[in-house]
Amino acid sequence: MQTNFTLAQLSDAETARSEQILRKCVHCGFCTATCPTFVLLGDERDSPRGRIYFIKAMLEGDRAPTESEVRHVDRCLSCLACMTTCPSGVNYMYLVDHGRHHIEIRYTRALSDRFLRGVLARLMPRPALLRWALVLGRLAKPLAAMLPATSADPGGATLLRRLRAMLEAVPGRLAGPSSVDRPQTFPAAGLRRKRVALMPGCGQQVLAPEVNEATVRLLTRHDMEVVNVAGSGCCGSSVMHVGRKEEALAFAKRNIEAWLREIDGAGLDAIVINASGCGTTVKDYGHMLADDPVWKNKAAQVAGLAKDVSELMLDFGLANVTARPLTVAYHSACSMQHGQKVIEQPKKLLRDAGFIVKDVPEGHICCGWAGTYQLLQPELSRRLRDRKVANIESVRPDIIAAGNFGCIGNIAGGTGIPVAHTVELLDWATGGPRPPALR
Ligand code: SF4
Ligand code: SF4
Repeated sequence: MQTNFTLAQLSDAETARSEQILRKCVHCGFCTATCPTFVLLGDERDSPRGRIYFIKAMLEGDRAPTESEVRHVDRCLSCLACMTTCPSGVNYMYLVDHGRHHIEIRYTRALSDRFLRGVLARLMPRPALLRWALVLGRLAKPLAAMLPATSADPGGATLLRRLRAMLEAVPGRLAGPSSVDRPQTFPAAGLRRKRVALMPGCGQQVLAPEVNEATVRLLTRHDMEVVNVAGSGCCGSSVMHVGRKEEALAFAKRNIEAWLREIDGAGLDAIVINASGCGTTVKDYGHMLADDPVWKNKAAQVAGLAKDVSELMLDFGLANVTARPLTVAYHSACSMQHGQKVIEQPKKLLRDAGFIVKDVPEGHICCGWAGTYQLLQPELSRRLRDRKVANIESVRPDIIAAGNFGCIGNIAGGTGIPVAHTVELLDWATGGPRPPALR
């Protein structure tokens, strides 16, 4: 694609990188076939190619984006299916992050939009605040039925429709804080073979505390010492996806600082992540801080240690398996398959644990969760969830497994089939308790 940036614009490192990405796009449109929003809406402006044109125009013009440009970029799930499909290697992730940051600093959103985004950006990365908000949300949850279930916008991006989605997303039951989510060291069950940090995450601690509990049991049972490092927490992705780059970088630096202290102290062989969305972000810290001379090497060092829990466990192999002859439909989260390219490892582990593993038709299409997206574009999110559930149910599984707590909660809301984290199933098969979803 031809670009027309000025030399002054290209003196900015991020713009220079985006220009290189734009020049790789040959307009072929292969990416449109696998883009969930194009599949649903059939509008070129809701396809990767359309969004690339919009981002190019706003960056080249060095101007405030138009309302239409913002609307179509907002509808992007950041699922990255387009990156998997693109034959030219266009890094859409970096481009859309740049576009979203440009929108954040150059566009004035409607007051209600600013308010909701501000609330989400404040709550999502902070488990204690999120817990309180959900407790209050439970009181207001009955009001959801009084709010509209549809809207004039195909994404559902109107104030009342979004408020309904937020109330509907409040869980009926909320487990208390888990003791594993406090900074501490969990010793290896046998002779220590590795020492790893477990990323505590943020929303998962509140919405699915059983995942970190199962991870600690699984890793320590396989002779790993696990550290929950003081000062580590949210990866920054939930604010990055609403264009708040500076806040995302602040979360990244906090984690890097905490883990480097541990690396320089007792040492770490890996940083283990069990939420694939966070894994994609931590693995990208080197890029996120590439223009910061103080942080870039530290960020690259930490990113180099980041592993999804399935990558780590496959290196180790499962010990003392009690096979469970159940059929598992494996849902590969977008951040797992498109973001991290971790595709076979979780399925291989589930098979090694004795499960019968089935792939899901249209497995490359997002389930519609995508972090804050489920709340900001609730109707597109719901349509994608229902499509995903229909595809999963077509393989008639006993259980659904996934490696991202957001997908798990989202899919569970649309089916009666139990949904568990891959780690919970591996933990169960190697001596841990039956996952709560199966009880
Ligand atoms: S990230 Fe997903 S939703 Fe966004 S343009 Fe690419 S394929 Fe479409
Ligand atoms: S597939 Fe790649 S090169 Fe083709 S239009 Fe999409 S982003 Fe551009």
